[in-house]
Amino acid sequence: MPTILVSTDDRSGPWLRRAATRQVGTLAIDQYVARTRLAYFSMEIAIRPDMPTYSGGLGILAGDTARTAADLGLPMVFVTLISRDGYLRQEMDPSGRQGDAPDPWDPQQEALALPAMAAIEIEGRLVWIRPWLHMLQRPNGNVVPILLLDTDVPGNDPADRAITGRLYGGDATMRLKQEIVLGIGGERLLRALGFEIATYHLNEGHAALLAISLLRRYPQTPTSAEGGFPYDVARVRESCVFTTHTPVEAGHDRFDYALVQRLLGDFIDQGVLRRLAGDDTLNMTRLALNLSSYVNGVAERHQQTAARMFPGYPIRAVTNGVHPQTWAHPTFARLFDALVPHWTHEPELLGRADQLSDADVRAAHDAAKAELLDLIRAAGGPAFDPALPVLAFARRITGYKRPHLLLDAPDRLAAIARRHPFQVVFAGKAHPRDEGGRELIARLQADIARLRGAVTMAFLPGYDFALARRLVAGADVWLNTPQPPLEASGTSGMKAALNGVPSLSVLDGWWVEGCIEGVTGWAIGREGDAPETHGRALLDKLEGTVLPLFHDDPAGWCRVMKGAISKVGAVFTSHRMMRRYAAEAYLGRGA
Ligand SMILES: *Cc1c(COP(=O)(O)O)cnc(C)c1O
Repeated sequence: MPTILVSTDDRSGPWLRRAATRQVGTLAIDQYVARTRLAYFSMEIAIRPDMPTYSGGLGILAGDTARTAADLGLPMVFVTLISRDGYLRQEMDPSGRQGDAPDPWDPQQEALALPAMAAIEIEGRLVWIRPWLHMLQRPNGNVVPILLLDTDVPGNDPADRAITGRLYGGDATMRLKQEIVLGIGGERLLRALGFEIATYHLNEGHAALLAISLLRRYPQTPTSAEGGFPYDVARVRESCVFTTHTPVEAGHDRFDYALVQRLLGDFIDQGVLRRLAGDDTLNMTRLALNLSSYVNGVAERHQQTAARMFPGYPIRAVTNGVHPQTWAHPTFARLFDALVPHWTHEPELLGRADQLSDADVRAAHDAAKAELLDLIRAAGGPAFDPALPVLAFARRITGYKRPHLLLDAPDRLAAIARRHPFQVVFAGKAHPRDEGGRELIARLQADIARLRGAVTMAFLPGYDFALARRLVAGADVWLNTPQPPLEASGTSGMKAALNGVPSLSVLDGWWVEGCIEGVTGWAIGREGDAPETHGRALLDKLEGTVLPLFHDDPAGWCRVMKGAISKVGAVFTSHRMMRRYAAEAYLGRGA
């Protein structure tokens, strides 16, 4: 069948839809096109462990969102970039420095190229975008479609074919091109495929140009003269939901207007753009704030921080959650099946996990822990003793996460380990252009080597979806040491809790809501403490509370494991999160 092309002026519609339907007939995409009303746009989505279309927490969250949307039968379509070269395969040189290797994959194995393309204009050239379709299917039979946008198609300029290659690769020009493909290209393709979308969810500012694409579709009407814009701004706003994900200033994309003008030409009037996205630079966050009627941060604490950063915008909080069936280890899933059969649909039922027997919880945990220790050994790490506690620190390695906090007083750490032996596993990637983060990885490994014989520690390379599943289930304590208030939410501690692994964490992000001292885990220091005091507070809490409980009071430890499942695992789920988005953002906007 010939590919059907849609030009930039949108001779869109049913043709494409019919063509796509025929091509993937058994999947009956037509049925999904007809029922879908919500579109979720994200630069990255962790769909499956063998599809490296994500970099870290943002993509994992988007993946858990898609899995939950399918579980719940929400009428959603997901749109992301295909990222053929993945994000980063973490290879270390002999000195412990992380390289910059791509992580290519073959879309043919996981998705179907639709016989449809839409074009956008970048730098005055037509850039054709082909969507690949991945049908995300859940055990209950429900499915959501995910469209992966690909510019690597014959006929495109070689420079443009590379746009959807490397996730977050290249310079600011490349980043803006990627955001144009996602926002403008994605909006255009959905329409070309026949989707009739009522609400667009912008996952982070990367997708904000989508709102510009919508503006052009809704010219001013006599009743919509708002602000003198030549567009129906109110209507666009009614269509958009925006979730902001970071209080870190560098996490908000900004682009020079000269660059915007060069890439987008007269796609949108520059005066209008400046009024919506900032005078000096195009600020994607500001653009999304101005064109969305529902805006939220990802934890209560983050909502407060975001409200201070963006005064004048009503910002709500929907605390992140994780997908229980994805993150509960199979041994725990079996316990949950027996205890509360419907936990995968209604994970709140895990509130009853305090009724599990100590023996069952221990056996499930021991199995998960054995798998992790095997993995550490197979990666060339030291032999960990399964009878001793394992602390895990796994996150993106960057300055404000302070991976080093545990190691800042090595003599005291070694003395604690003599009295209350413990072991530590570290993992995490640094963004290839985060020189400080790459330095921290090298330093971590040097310190691990220096403390050999005193404290058993390992750094596991290649932190990703698959490794995260092993770590969150196999550790005994989940360690988190961000510098407040820079951790917007964090989700890995929620995954650990589902496996009976309590957190030991600074009070920031979601932990402000999740921590019940001594019941679900432990806080490092108190709220408002100076960040310089956290290192000492961490060692105090380890030495005085956490390690003695593990070694001297097995029943007390088991109570905390069950507290983590029943009071955190049951609550901080993507099911709660998506039911809230559905009720408050998708349906009850402005409530
Ligand atoms: C869950 C997850 C994250 C995000 O967790 P944080 O608590 O924010 O660090 C990042 N990377 C991977 C691979 C994950 O699974």
